[in-house]
Amino acid sequence: MRIGIIGAGQLGQMLGFAARDLDIECLFVDPSVSPPAAECGEVLQRPFDDPGALDELAEKCDVITYEFENVPVDALLRIERKVSIYPPLEALRQAQDRLSEKQVFEQLGIPLPGYRAVDTRDDLVAASEALGLPLVLKTRRLGYDGKGQFVVRTGDDIDAAWRTLGGQSLIAEQWVPFDYEVSSIGTRNSAGEVRIYALTRNIHEDGILRRSLAPVDAPPLERQADNYVRRLLEHLDYVGVLALELFVRGEALLANEFAPRVHNSGHWTIEGASTSQFENHLRAVTNLPLGSTATRGHAGMLNLIGEIPDAARALEDAYMHDYGKTPRPGRKLGHLTILLDTAEERDARIDIIDKIVNWSSCSHDDTA
Ligand code: AMP
Repeated sequence: MRIGIIGAGQLGQMLGFAARDLDIECLFVDPSVSPPAAECGEVLQRPFDDPGALDELAEKCDVITYEFENVPVDALLRIERKVSIYPPLEALRQAQDRLSEKQVFEQLGIPLPGYRAVDTRDDLVAASEALGLPLVLKTRRLGYDGKGQFVVRTGDDIDAAWRTLGGQSLIAEQWVPFDYEVSSIGTRNSAGEVRIYALTRNIHEDGILRRSLAPVDAPPLERQADNYVRRLLEHLDYVGVLALELFVRGEALLANEFAPRVHNSGHWTIEGASTSQFENHLRAVTNLPLGSTATRGHAGMLNLIGEIPDAARALEDAYMHDYGKTPRPGRKLGHLTILLDTAEERDARIDIIDKIVNWSSCSHDDTA
């Protein structure tokens, strides 16, 4: 069995490691020089939508998947006649546009913050009157890690927001004063089997995921989130792993977005669940029975962003993942996972590890 993977970043790399265990060969497409997944299989060093590279993938592989959601759908539609592509391109299309994504949530009765499509400055003024302030103005396409967003706090911010983001299709969203953020990661194979991981709490800094903790001890919220993910998976006739990001406010969940792929907030599943999200994604897209998503303890995951200090490698109780990327500010270079018996022990330990890692990077900066 050979699988074609579009994108050879860290998610491709972790898929590649899981593929080895399943005896699946990987062939990647990625324009970067020496991407992280290069150690897991051949990489066609071509643009993601290069027709020649995609044709080669279609000819050589039994199935094609992707590790990020900004793959041009039209380029993939052309090869879909020749080879199965999972997750389905219709799910990818919906997830690429925040407006259609929100319409799917509405259609499925999944609660979400109020929103308005914004194409003109007048639309933005009308949205601020209809939704109230603050609101978040976001690009409909190609946003990630909080990029392409502007928080409009007062009427005085409207001009600056419009100058920064105007001239492209936008969406205005009600600002949610959430208690915390969670994600629910589900997987479905083409036989319709569904498995959902424990609800995960996510902590972002500067729009980038910093920390994930699972399981979240809130059974009613988890039941609700499972139900929403299941609705999405079934409605989209989905095959593969899907991550749904939600805001928690009191007893309520509000959907933010979904990603049709393996997700950073599910990295803890490598050590913290019976079957990792990466293995289950591969199982789903190759139509193998899915593995158990049961937790193995209380997992905490810390992203290593910008640099990997030596102290992170010296921790005896953490599983270290180094993606082998060149350090750059704001870049995800690796992550650490810890696994403990109780949530209290996990939360205390991850706080200490975060301080060790942060302190090391600061002291390194000071001497640089
Ligand atoms: P997104 O790219 O939509 O996932 O947004 C990145 C982060 O910005 C989220 O994880 C939240 O922390 C924050 N954010 C996005 N939308 C909202 C909102 N409507 N209200 C409050 N915070 C938001």
